[in-house]
Amino acid sequence: MLKIENLHAEIDGKAILKGLTLEVQPGEVHAIMGPNGAGKSTLAYVLGGRPGYEVTEGSVTFGGKDLLDLEPHERAAAGLFLGFQYPVEIPGVSNVQFLREALNAQREERGEEKLTGGEFLKLAKEKAGLLKLDMDMLKRHVNVGFSGGEKKRAEMVQMGILDPQFAVLDETDSGLDIDALRVVGDGINAIMRQPDKGVLLITHYQRLLEVVKPDKVSILSDGRIVRTGGPELAMQLEEEGYDRVMETA
Ligand code: ADP
Ligand code: MG
Ligand code: MG
Repeated sequence: MLKIENLHAEIDGKAILKGLTLEVQPGEVHAIMGPNGAGKSTLAYVLGGRPGYEVTEGSVTFGGKDLLDLEPHERAAAGLFLGFQYPVEIPGVSNVQFLREALNAQREERGEEKLTGGEFLKLAKEKAGLLKLDMDMLKRHVNVGFSGGEKKRAEMVQMGILDPQFAVLDETDSGLDIDALRVVGDGINAIMRQPDKGVLLITHYQRLLEVVKPDKVSILSDGRIVRTGGPELAMQLEEEGYDRVMETA
C-alpha cells in the first residue's frame, strides 16, 4: 500500500533521512518510534509534500502511484491524510467551514459530487460523536483557544470526515492526558482499523500503542529504520530505552 525505498531527504542542504526503507500493507498499523531528532516528523512532512523538504534519492509509491510526483492536494485526494504534532490555528475560519471545504475539494478532485450543507453537518455530527467532541467546538474557529487534547480530537474528527485510505499520524499522543489518549486511540481504531486502510503511527511512547495495537513496530534512528519487530519491540523500548535496544540491534 505504502512502499518507501531508500529514501533520502534534506532540509536546507542538511541530510535528515538517509536511506529509509519501509512498507505498510493494507490493514496494517505500523508504528514508528525513535529518539528526538531521528527524522520522524521529517518523514511525515516528506510524505505530505511540504515545501522545503527535498528528496535527493529513493522512491515512495502509494497504491502503485509515484507519491513524490504528486502535489500535496493530489496526495490528499488520493487518500493520504497527515496528522501533525503541532496543529495550526486558523482565526476567522470555523472548523465546519474548513472541513466542508477540505472534503469538497477532495471530492471534486476525485470527480465526486460535493456534499450539501445538510449532508455535511450530518456527517460532522456523526464523527464528532465518535470522538466525543461537542458540536459547539466544531463551530469555533479552527484550533483557536483549543486545549492540546481538543486540537487532537478535532484533528481526528477531520480524519473521520475525510475518511482517508492511509493516515500518517505524527505524535498524535503528545500532550494528551490518559482519558483523551483513550478517546483519540479509540477514534483512530474506529476510523482506520479496516482491511483496506493503513496507518503509519509515529510516537515517542508506548502508551498510545496499548490502545491502537500496532501490527509492526519500527525504530527510526538517524534517518534510517534500524530495527523492525512486533508490538513487543515497543514494550522493550519502554523498559530499556532507545540506547540499550539499539545497541543490541
Ligand atoms: P523527530 O521528529 O524524530 O524528533 P525531526 O524530523 O523533527 O525529528 O528532525 C530531524 C532533524 O532535522 C533534527 O536534527 C532537526 O534539528 C533537523 N531539522 C528539522 N527541521 C529542520 C529545519 N527546518 N532546518 C534545519 N534542520 C531541521
Ligand atoms: Mg520530536
Ligand atoms: Mg517530531
